[in-house]
Amino acid sequence: MKKHNFSAGPCILPQEVFAEASQAVLDFNNSGLSILEISHRSKDFVAVMEEARALALELLGLDNKGYTALFLQGGASLQFLMAAYNLLEHKGAYLDTGTWSSKAIKEAKKLGHVDVVASSKDKNYNYIPKNFSIPTDADFFHCTSNNTIFGTSIKEFAQTDIPVVCDMSSDIFSRQLDFSAFDLIYAGAQKNMGPAGATLVIVKDDILGKVSRDIPSMLDYKIHMSKDSMFNTPPVFAVYTSMLNLRWLKAKGGISAIEKENEDKASLIYSEIDINPLFEGFAAKEDRSFMNATFNLTDQSLKEKFDNMLKEGGINGLNGHRSVGGYRASMYNALPKQSVSVVVEIMDELERKA
Ligand SMILES: *Cc1c(COP(=O)(O)O)cnc(C)c1O
Repeated sequence: MKKHNFSAGPCILPQEVFAEASQAVLDFNNSGLSILEISHRSKDFVAVMEEARALALELLGLDNKGYTALFLQGGASLQFLMAAYNLLEHKGAYLDTGTWSSKAIKEAKKLGHVDVVASSKDKNYNYIPKNFSIPTDADFFHCTSNNTIFGTSIKEFAQTDIPVVCDMSSDIFSRQLDFSAFDLIYAGAQKNMGPAGATLVIVKDDILGKVSRDIPSMLDYKIHMSKDSMFNTPPVFAVYTSMLNLRWLKAKGGISAIEKENEDKASLIYSEIDINPLFEGFAAKEDRSFMNATFNLTDQSLKEKFDNMLKEGGINGLNGHRSVGGYRASMYNALPKQSVSVVVEIMDELERKA
């Protein structure tokens, strides 16, 4: 039986995408060859790469606006370093909203000065700091749009004239933003875009070329751009499957259409968390993420019972991250509302039985 998959990443993708991708593993484009055995330089794969890059920009509304989309490797974790390598000359300004932001800060510190403009570490990252100021003499401002582990997300992005870098790993393509307010966006594919192995990087061309250091080729955005994201062998299957998923999203009506579904799913679970006395939310209400809802039982003695009910209901991946505990419902684009309803019914049932 297919499970209801709330895994935080790698995560659920549309069933149609799984079906199409598995067909291509056997026979890609009726070529008599598997997607796994063709050259990345073949005409058919170059077309896949180009379509994936174009779809990413189109869905974000960034086509013909001076941006380039790249599919790289090394995960979002390599971007923590790579962004700093390409942009940090004198000082980077960072907003610390959780584990992933702190990791980005740690990598940037290896290359230069880091100014942490605000942090929510004092409350185990259960909120998004507001009203901080960003130094105008910093080379760039770095933030994390959605904090996958803590279940918070930035609703209003800070205004600044310096370049803005954003780790959107866990909410890219999930909600409408003015993406042109960002100069560098990166996202590990495995949260909301595709399988693990590819990282989407969207870079505004004119922010590059301003640092004096000699950048190693594999870490140099300009080199990847000049080679159309094929400087070396790209993660062929991950790019292909991401492309299928971006096609799926476009056919659904793009980000504005999926955003409504995501809001619907999120409000379904958050209203249950708020109404059911057996549960409490972790994140500050105004900062709640629509992708990852974090919550806990108010009475830990019910844990075993609740966990068993989840298991019987075919729920997968609802355990919270170890740094928060409790539960986390990751509700990425492909998760059907029906799956959220099943969890909510189980939460209800626990209340009735307790
Ligand atoms: C998962 C995650 C990362 C790390 O991604 P990798 O691809 O595993 O390196 C970074 N940032 C955010 C917001 C994430 O959710």
